Amino acid sequence: MQPWLQAGLMLSYWCSASCEFCYVSSCPAHNFWTSPDQIVDRWKQLDDLAARYNARVKIHLTGGEVFGNWDLLVDVLERARRAELPPVDKIETNAFWADTDAVVRRRLTVLKNLGVKLLTTDADIFHQQFVPIDYVRRLVEITREILGPDAVRVRWRDFYNAALENNLDVNNLSPQQLRELQIDALTHGRERFNGRAAVLASKLLQGKSPETFIGDCCDKGILRSKHVHIDPYGNIFPGTCCGLILGSTLCENIADVYDWLDTNGPTGPILETLTTQGPAALVDFARRYGFTPLPNGYVSKCQLCYHIRSTLYGAGQFKKWLGPEQTYPPIEW
Ligand code: SF4
Ligand code: SF4
Repeated sequence: MQPWLQAGLMLSYWCSASCEFCYVSSCPAHNFWTSPDQIVDRWKQLDDLAARYNARVKIHLTGGEVFGNWDLLVDVLERARRAELPPVDKIETNAFWADTDAVVRRRLTVLKNLGVKLLTTDADIFHQQFVPIDYVRRLVEITREILGPDAVRVRWRDFYNAALENNLDVNNLSPQQLRELQIDALTHGRERFNGRAAVLASKLLQGKSPETFIGDCCDKGILRSKHVHIDPYGNIFPGTCCGLILGSTLCENIADVYDWLDTNGPTGPILETLTTQGPAALVDFARRYGFTPLPNGYVSKCQLCYHIRSTLYGAGQFKKWLGPEQTYPPIEW
C-alpha cells in the first residue's frame, strides 16, 4: 500500500455553485463547516504519518468552496502555521468571490502573508453557468501579480482562453448549444464520473454494458494511491472516490485507519470487492437491493460504481462504507 502523502482536506460540502458535473455533489444547501481544530488536527495526523516515510504531507484545502467561509480559511492557515505544519500545497476555488479587484487584492495579500503559493481555479462549460468568466480572469491576473506568475492554475486553460477571446457568456447559449458543449466536455474524458457527473453522463452519453468492466479492479485507486480526501465529517475517501469510506477520523486516528488497511486490506462487501474485482462484480449483489443497470450503459467503471453505490445507499445499506448523505442525494437515474 502506498503511504498517504497527499490529501485534500474538505472544509465543507457548501458551494456557491451546483455544477451539473460536480463529483462531490456540492451545492449552496450544504451549510456544515468543519471546525478549525478538526482540520488542523487532521493535517497534523497526516503529517505525522508522512514523517514515517521521511516526508512532509502535501495538503490542499478544498470543498465545496472554501472561500465561502473566509474567516475559517484564514483561521485554519494561521493555526497550521503556529503548529509548524508544512505550508498548504494549494487552495482550490471557483472564483465566485472575485467580483472586484479590491476584494481579490485584499484576500490574496492575506494569503501571501500566510505562505500560500498556489491557487487552482476552474474554467469550463459547467462552472461558467455559475461564475462569470470575468471573475476567473480577475482572479488569475491578480494572483499572478501578487503571488507570482506561476501561482495560479486554471482547469481548463483552453476553455479559459477561448471564453475570454470570444467574450463567452454561457448563460446566453441556447439549451441546445449548452448541451452540445457539455457533451463535448464529457466525451473528452476530462471528468470524474462520480456524483452528479455520473448522473449527467447517464442522460447525455451512450455507454457500454456493465460486463465491459469485468476484471477492471480498483486496487490502484484504493490502495496504491498516495492521495486521500477527508470530508468535513471526517470521512476518509480514496483519492477521487468521493462517498466511499475507508475510515472515519471521528472514530480513529488516521494512522490507525492506514495501518489497518495496510495490514488487512479493505474489508466488507463493498470495499473488498471494488479493490479486488471492480464495480462490475457488484452488479448481481446490488440487484438484491433494487439495482437495475442503465439501458444506455456506462461510459466508465466509476459511473457504474457510483450508480451501484447510490442505489445501495438509497436502500439504507452499507453506511459504514458509503456516505455521507450529501454525496448520495436522491436521484432519478
Ligand atoms: S464542481 Fe466545484 S464549483 Fe462546481 S459545485 Fe462542485 S465544488 Fe462547487
Ligand atoms: S470504480 Fe469506484 S472505487 Fe473504483 S476508482 Fe472508480 S469510484 Fe473509485
